Amino acid sequence: MESWPDTLPIDSNQNKYDSLVHAPQSGIANAGFPHYADGQVSGSPKKLMARIIAVANQKGGVGKTTTAINLAASLAAAKLNTLLVDCDPQSNSTSGLGLAKDPDRNSTYKVLVGECDGAGALQATALEYLRLLPAHKNLIGVNFELVDAENREFRLRDALTPLREQFNFIVIDCPPALDLLTLNSLVAADTVLIPMQAEYFALEGVSELLDTIERIRAGLNPALEIEGVVLTMFDERTNLAQQVTAELKRFFGEKLFATSIPRNVRLAEAPSHGKPVLLYDERSRGAESYLQLAKEIIAKHMPDFQAFAAAAGVDGASSQPSEGNEQEEKQVVNAPRWRRWRDRNKLVTIDLKG
Ligand code: ATP
Ligand code: MG
Repeated sequence: MESWPDTLPIDSNQNKYDSLVHAPQSGIANAGFPHYADGQVSGSPKKLMARIIAVANQKGGVGKTTTAINLAASLAAAKLNTLLVDCDPQSNSTSGLGLAKDPDRNSTYKVLVGECDGAGALQATALEYLRLLPAHKNLIGVNFELVDAENREFRLRDALTPLREQFNFIVIDCPPALDLLTLNSLVAADTVLIPMQAEYFALEGVSELLDTIERIRAGLNPALEIEGVVLTMFDERTNLAQQVTAELKRFFGEKLFATSIPRNVRLAEAPSHGKPVLLYDERSRGAESYLQLAKEIIAKHMPDFQAFAAAAGVDGASSQPSEGNEQEEKQVVNAPRWRRWRDRNKLVTIDLKG
């Protein structure tokens, strides 16, 4: 196999998140967190009560999985106990965190069909504060097998409720469809985080999702709120992006996150290494922007929480994106060797013109 081009960052030994990395474990990780109490919000009661955020948009390829993985990892980098739930049969969150395909492992499918409970399906990840409820492609079967089942929309909610006390945040990666899996996610969730690309018809694309959220609010989950809309693969240099952003700002108001996620090749590369971007290239603009997004969410819901800046160093100059990154990124994307590697490894949908 061809080795990586020189321009790509090979895993650094000096990642500042190394202190939060533990030796990869295999098998079930349903034991408590070693530094569980560190994740407490100061002044809050001792008991945790996770906020459950579903990352949803029925449109494919808008950055749901990239957002779910990297938001969850950024929250974990702030020493907040975080669970990432892979609720998509494509299982991209699972492979993106380095887990091999395994139909026998306890997974979202087994949880939803009642073969195991949530706690019995949790996997450790490279980040000490991040757990994963993995998926396998057999999860697609839920859409058929549970069609006539009792409580079919409430399966995920019932499985996650007992886990709320173990985590500060639970992030659910949804499939690109308004199917029973997304429905289960939206019924289980407190809020929906909607990743969107700044395209001309962005609002039209999201109207179906907003209708669905309204219907769920009217019936299955009256407390469901919108966490926010985050612009992904954003290129602020284009007029179109500016116009669409202004329109989305008018429509969503303060629900549009101040942080937008730039198009950044490190974000696209990291999953092929089975890592969130902050363990792959912590100084990339992609890593920086997801840390900022996590920071925005923490500031909104945990105004007293101080550990993030100290743990993740996202305040001030300490985490400026690496200089010349944009230039470097262009080199990587234009390199013929990189293209060949990408094509062979099916690392898809990087817009070379972007
Ligand atoms: P699906 O609907 O199939 O589940 P998705 O909404 O989860 O897709 P992703 O898988 O996160 O979308 O992203 C689609 C593709 O775009 C992936 O190849 C991913 O690596 C790439 N990508 C996502 N965000 C970015 C970004 N900010 N910069 C560069 N590439 C990105
Ligand atoms: Mg996805």
